[in-house]
Amino acid sequence: RAKDEGKNQFRVYDVTLNPNAEETIEIKNSLRVALANDEFIVYYQPQIAVDTGQVVGLEALVRWVHPTRGLIPPNDFIPIAEETGLIVPIGERILQLVCNQSRAWQDAGFPPIRIAVNLSARQFAQKDLSQRISSIVGKHRLDPQYIELEITESLVMKEGMQPALHSLREKGFTISIDDFGTQYSSLNYLKLLPVDKIKIDRSFVKGIARDRKDEAIIVAMLLIASRLNLTVIAEGVETVEQLSFLQQNNCHEIQGFIFHKPKPAEQITELLASQSHRKGTVS
Ligand code: C2E
Ligand code: MG
Ligand code: MG
Ligand code: MG
Repeated sequence: RAKDEGKNQFRVYDVTLNPNAEETIEIKNSLRVALANDEFIVYYQPQIAVDTGQVVGLEALVRWVHPTRGLIPPNDFIPIAEETGLIVPIGERILQLVCNQSRAWQDAGFPPIRIAVNLSARQFAQKDLSQRISSIVGKHRLDPQYIELEITESLVMKEGMQPALHSLREKGFTISIDDFGTQYSSLNYLKLLPVDKIKIDRSFVKGIARDRKDEAIIVAMLLIASRLNLTVIAEGVETVEQLSFLQQNNCHEIQGFIFHKPKPAEQITELLASQSHRKGTVS
């Protein structure tokens, strides 16, 4: 009897301790269905050049349109997709969606715009990753220079990553380091690997005008990047103080809610149209 009670208690305890456990299992099971039913869509967040104020790039950010639960953000399912390996086919699907959209914008007369795509470590486990990516991009008749590949520091440091990165770089893709400075990292890879760009993480940007240490780290990052001829973009910029600090310290590009949240493609089309109109490149 005491034993039974113990069991019951444990079950209750378990559920309270980890209220998301059931949800996690449910997500795991339905990710495969989601892929088959084409339930993933891509939002795009504009990246703004500090010197001109123009939209010079977009980051592709996946969303899951769940039939009953609505729009699910990537943090709720990408980690599970990574754990199960489903991130490999899902990642490929995302790249296809991005390439379709990029082709559609170009066919509509917009000048080509750079789109950044996030890659997971598991995708690099594929021996032919570079070939697969360039084949999808080629099928859509896109120039690789307009596809930027975002990878994280932990991924960069992995053994065996280097050939794929060098091959992608040789094919003309841009390589950028996401969430720069937040993981176990060594500046050594900036020397060894073909990196074009770093993305200053939102956790540092948050400290601007509030924490001198964050400011010092950002200034140091910008200095290193400038000496290494790397482009720098700051992520998660929300306030005027943050923007002007980054401007004053010669950060090249800004991505953040102060300008735009990630938006569905149709809204980006309107944005591109108004920008082309201002510049007079598309009638
Ligand atoms: P990330 O690649 O670092 O993307 C930037 C995240 O910061 C996005 O969240 C974006 O909406 C958010 N963000 C941008 N500016 C601001 C701001 O000013 N304030 C705040 N509070 N947030 C801002 P999102 O779209 O929820 O994506 C979260 C993460 O999920 C991404 O972080 C990335 O690690 C992952 N992810 C998203 N899409 C993909 C994908 O297609 N493939 C893979 N492998 N991972 C993805
Ligand atoms: Mg990213
Ligand atoms: Mg990031
Ligand atoms: Mg991230």
